[in-house]
Amino acid sequence: SEDARDRGLAYYQSSRDSYSADRLTLVSELKHALKNDELALYLQPKMSLKTRAVVGLEALIRWPDRKRPVSADEIIALAEQTGLIKPLTRWVLEQSLAVRSRLLERGHILNVSVNISPNNLRERDFPVFVQRLMNSYHSHHGAITLEVTETSMMQDPVNSLRALRSLHATGIPLSIDDFGSGYSSLSYIKQLPASEIKIDRSLITDLASEVGDQVIVKTTIDMCHSLGYSVVAEGVETQETLELLDEMGCDMVQGYFLTPPLPVGEMTLWLDEQAQQ
Ligand code: C2E
Ligand code: CA
Ligand code: CA
Ligand code: CA
Repeated sequence: SEDARDRGLAYYQSSRDSYSADRLTLVSELKHALKNDELALYLQPKMSLKTRAVVGLEALIRWPDRKRPVSADEIIALAEQTGLIKPLTRWVLEQSLAVRSRLLERGHILNVSVNISPNNLRERDFPVFVQRLMNSYHSHHGAITLEVTETSMMQDPVNSLRALRSLHATGIPLSIDDFGSGYSSLSYIKQLPASEIKIDRSLITDLASEVGDQVIVKTTIDMCHSLGYSVVAEGVETQETLELLDEMGCDMVQGYFLTPPLPVGEMTLWLDEQAQQ
């Protein structure tokens, strides 16, 4: 059995070594992809339930043209572990503003939401970077929204709060992402200068059939409204869920029912079509 344990250990070590070799390759490939504009932004619309108009887009990172696809979650985790998240987020922000300007020229006035990592909030010059970028694109306040998750901020609540306040002072709206997915600390969230809350997909997916989820979502919407936030439901996949959310007073929806995230060219055509209806 000692033998078996040795073999087990040897197996474990070799698989771990090959895992880290793979990982090193992946990191250097990601670095290369970022430098050479091989990453892409996909866009997903956010619709107002009251007017049924598209009011914004969320930018989501993609790494196309790969034999083994790498998910956005994986890309971000890798980038966070290796320091690449700083240039990556800045690339996403710049691309988002560029796309927004091009859409504006076609008559689409839209806010673009960009996900930011807690690591970005630790970069001293992040608020200045965002401000300069906004200026260089002649963007008014409200052109972009930054999305942060509540759980990510809990790693470093004091510094995250400080950074978010200085971003807010430069006029950048903030959105609390994945709300209801972790252990929400409302007393913390209410200190944040956020204007929007996004209810996590896990509470929305089965909304039509789960009475429990309905109670939680309705209560969350009412509570968020009382605190002055507008509310977005993400992961809306059916008309039934959309109508339920409308009845509950939810402000905006996002999800596959409207469209999955699309590459910029396809999203432009999708928006053109919507505008004609
Ligand atoms: P997230 O910010 O919560 O983004 C929403 C995710 O839900 C996206 O996954 C989107 O494709 C997916 N989704 C949208 N509608 C539906 C639906 O109706 N049903 C289902 N099942 N899924 C839906 P995606 O693009 O794979 O991104 C995963 C996560 O990766 C994001 O979650 C976000 O946390 C992170 N991420 C993506 N792009 C970026 C980025 O540029 N920067 C940072 N820091 N994080 C990013
Ligand atoms: Ca998000
Ligand atoms: Ca989310
Ligand atoms: Ca998420």
